[in-house]
Amino acid sequence: MSVIVEKLTKRFSAGATPAVSDVSFQAPPGAITTLLGPSGAGKSTILRAIAGLETPDEGRILIDGVDCTDLPVQKRGVGVVFQSYALFRHMTVRENIAFGLNVRRMSRGDVNARVDEMLKLIQLEELGRRTPSQLSGGQRQRVAFARALAIRPKVLLLDEPFGALDTRVREELREWLQELHELTGVTTLLVTHDQEEALEISQHVVIMSEGRVAQAGKPEDVYDS
Ligand code: ADP
Ligand code: ADP
Repeated sequence: MSVIVEKLTKRFSAGATPAVSDVSFQAPPGAITTLLGPSGAGKSTILRAIAGLETPDEGRILIDGVDCTDLPVQKRGVGVVFQSYALFRHMTVRENIAFGLNVRRMSRGDVNARVDEMLKLIQLEELGRRTPSQLSGGQRQRVAFARALAIRPKVLLLDEPFGALDTRVREELREWLQELHELTGVTTLLVTHDQEEALEISQHVVIMSEGRVAQAGKPEDVYDS
């Protein structure tokens, strides 16, 4: 399931310099693609546009060949993880993971089975009845991944998912994400400003600068030149 972004432009106010200017790139199916660049480069805006959380002024977004530019969030088949977990604080881990399934009116038995499967996938089988406040930062973020993956998205969209964690946990979760990606094979788009993270994790890198694509390719190619 590839993601194709075509000539995407987004301005937040008329006459202002666009946050994203004429951006085109492809995220290959089954790979981890990183959008890399300094703060303000337009990375989050692109990710949010793919998720359906921002409306582009110009351009198209294709997911698995389908033009999603005008589709509502829930019809796009995307799972999203943000920097600050955004788990529902009054819900248990299980309820958090089930959220998108309940929204989609999946039957209770199927929801329970899927939640069990996701808890196993993130290796937190014992913690399903806890609330987010009873988890460590790293555990919370794994729950956020489980919630995003529970709907079996075509694409997983990650916006600085480890940004709020301390260095040690961040490194642990980086390795964990690679294992998770090997298990699910889900096409993944990761936003980061951390060059080392991009190099280590991804098979494809899109370097952003001032709202434009500066370079794109395999990590070894974009860093050699
Ligand atoms: P990055 O993710 O690379 O840090 P962003 O996509 O968040 O960059 O931001 C790109 C530019 O768009 C920045 O100049 C930012 O201030 C601006 N911007 C982002 N979101 C909004 C918004 N909701 N309203 C106005 N300006 C915004
Ligand atoms: P295999 O065909 O190797 O058995 P599966 O397709 O069963 O692999 O996937 C392995 C694990 O990854 C399972 O736990 C499955 O639930 C999970 N998984 C696979 N695809 C997705 C997806 N798109 N979203 C979330 N989890 C997934």
